[in-house]
Amino acid sequence: MLSYRHAFHAGNHADVLKHLIQVQIIDYLGQKDKPFWYIDTHAGAGAYSLTEGYATKTAEYVDGVARLWQRDDLPPAVARYLEVVRSINPDGELRHYPGSPWFAAETMNRSEKLRLFELHPSDFQLLGECFADAGRRIKVEKSNGFEALKSILPPPPRRALVLIDPPYEDKGDYQRVVNAMQESLKRFATGTYAIWYPLLQRPEIKDMVAQLKALLCHSWLDTTLTVRTPSKEGFGMHGSGMFIVNPPWTLPATLNDTLPWLTEVLAVDKGAWHSVEYRENK
Ligand code: SAM
Repeated sequence: MLSYRHAFHAGNHADVLKHLIQVQIIDYLGQKDKPFWYIDTHAGAGAYSLTEGYATKTAEYVDGVARLWQRDDLPPAVARYLEVVRSINPDGELRHYPGSPWFAAETMNRSEKLRLFELHPSDFQLLGECFADAGRRIKVEKSNGFEALKSILPPPPRRALVLIDPPYEDKGDYQRVVNAMQESLKRFATGTYAIWYPLLQRPEIKDMVAQLKALLCHSWLDTTLTVRTPSKEGFGMHGSGMFIVNPPWTLPATLNDTLPWLTEVLAVDKGAWHSVEYRENK
């Protein structure tokens, strides 16, 4: 079942949280003079129009990136994230939104490699077109990202950020994420892994996060950004979370500095709040 199209959601509050954190991790990894890989198990289309097609139907970006676009009081991590969004909108009008592969390609050193997996035929084609001139630096594959991950870990430079960002339309994705992490840590224990997840009123999410917290890893960070009060009917996404295995040690402080501002700016109602939980395992 491949009905999910990320174009409907491009630039929404969940993308803001995910991509802001992605940029922070890549900038941190880039500080060392040693190469690293970026691996995206569920890469999407690479870039999205906000003025044509699917995004205009839902206009989720209006309550996401658009709320930040004109602000002049940006915390440094938000300013850095918006720098990349501006790179795809050089005339200053917010018309396009970069996907996670674009954020990576733009923020990584030109000699560092990206491995991108996408199963949907149309998004796979768009992703390929997006990076058609990238040569061997960026490899795009039409494969199941959960399966492909097993075959490429550990990556040759022994340093990497792995982004795991499934649609979760199939409830099985919650357990697939846990299984993929257990497998991946056996092959590549020192990698940094960032897992996006939705905040919905479903038991599978709590179960997944509890299992991620029990992984045998050096450290983890779990952060959430809720933008609205969960609905009485029990439907809809009220926020999102990022679970990061082996995060940069600087990330908890950056998020504690940034999320109060971001929560206020992205709040839809008084139910908005955020959390940051960090643990180092002995
Ligand atoms: N990471 C992207 C970003 O931040 O711009 C968004 C990805 S979107 C949430 C999830 C994507 O995963 C969709 O494009 C979907 O077609 C794709 N997908 C679904 N199942 C997949 C699988 N098993 N392997 C690879 N891609 C898959």
